[in-house]
Amino acid sequence: MSQGQDKKEAKSIACMKCQIPMELGKVEVFYLNNKFPIELLKCPKCGLVYIPEELAIGKMLEVEKALEDK
Ligand SMILES: [Zn+2]
Repeated sequence: MSQGQDKKEAKSIACMKCQIPMELGKVEVFYLNNKFPIELLKCPKCGLVYIPEELAIGKMLEVEKALEDK
């Protein structure tokens, strides 16, 4: 169900510290002692990562499922 989401307006989220727009990039997150690379908005200056709540929850659920299947 990821279709129909063409480019609307890419939400530009600014870093709270630097006040500059964050860029999408690969970030490694740790969960249950495992490392997972995911794409998130990240501040190019200070490295702060923005994790939308719904995305975080969805990813974690996916990760959990993947681990169980293994
Ligand atoms: Zn920053």
